[in-house]
Amino acid sequence: MMKRHTSVGNRLLAALPAADLGLLAPYLQHVLLKQDAVLVRSGDRNDKVYFPHSGAISFMLDMPNGQTVATSLIGHEGAVGMLSVLGPSRSPTTAVVRVAGIASQISASRFHAAFGQSDAIKYAVQTHTRALLMQLQHVTACNALHAVEARMARWLLHIHDRIAGNVVPLTQEALSELLGVRRTTVTLVVRKLRASGAVKSARRGLVEIDRPRLKETACECYEAMRCKYHRIFPLDTHRLSSRPNGSENAPVLNYRT
Ligand SMILES: [Zn+2]
Repeated sequence: MMKRHTSVGNRLLAALPAADLGLLAPYLQHVLLKQDAVLVRSGDRNDKVYFPHSGAISFMLDMPNGQTVATSLIGHEGAVGMLSVLGPSRSPTTAVVRVAGIASQISASRFHAAFGQSDAIKYAVQTHTRALLMQLQHVTACNALHAVEARMARWLLHIHDRIAGNVVPLTQEALSELLGVRRTTVTLVVRKLRASGAVKSARRGLVEIDRPRLKETACECYEAMRCKYHRIFPLDTHRLSSRPNGSENAPVLNYRT
C-alpha cells in the first residue's frame, strides 16, 4: 500500500494553497533518495515526478564518448521530471542523487492531470523553470569563463547549501563527473584547495570544507545565483522553516552566510 505524504518540506509543494496541494497529496508517496541513485536516465521518459524534501540531485549531460558534466543541481527548492508537462519528450539529462535524502514521488500522469486543473501548480512549474533556466545560463557562462578550481568551489558550496554540517559527501569520481574533468585534474584541484585551507580534508568520499575560505575561492557565479534564487522564490521562509525533525542543524538552502 502506498504511504501517504504528510509533511511538506519541498519548497514548490509548500507554496501551494491547500486546495491545490490536495490535488496531488493523495498520490504523493514518500521515497528515499539513495546516494548515487539514478532517478531518470537521459533518453528515458519521465514517468515519475520527484519533489525532494532533502538531499541534492544533479542533472548530468552524457556525451556519446562517455564523458559527463553537470548542467544543474536541485534540492528541496526544485523537482525532477516536472517539465514533462511541457509535452511528451524524453529526458535530456540523467538525474543522479548526489546527497541522499527524501522526496515525494508522484506518477507523471497524475501530476499532469493536477497541472491541468490548477493555476497554482502551473505557477510552480513556471517558478521551477525560471530557476532552472537561470542556473543553466550561469553554469554555461561559468564553464566558459572560470577556472576549474573556482568551479569546484562553487559546486561544493551548492551542495553544502543542501546538507547539514561541513562535510560534503562527494567522491572524487562524483566531482570529476560534475565538473566534466579527469580524475587527475580533480586530485590536483583538491590538493590546491587543501593547501589554501578551503578544503580541510578529503577522504573516503567525504570532503570537509571551510565555508568562508571556499567562498573566497569560488567564482562570483555562486553569489550571483544565490541572489537570483532569492528573487525567483518569494520570501516564504516561514512556511519552509518547519522541518520534519525540527533539527537546528537541518540545512536551509540559500540562507547561509
Ligand atoms: Zn563561475
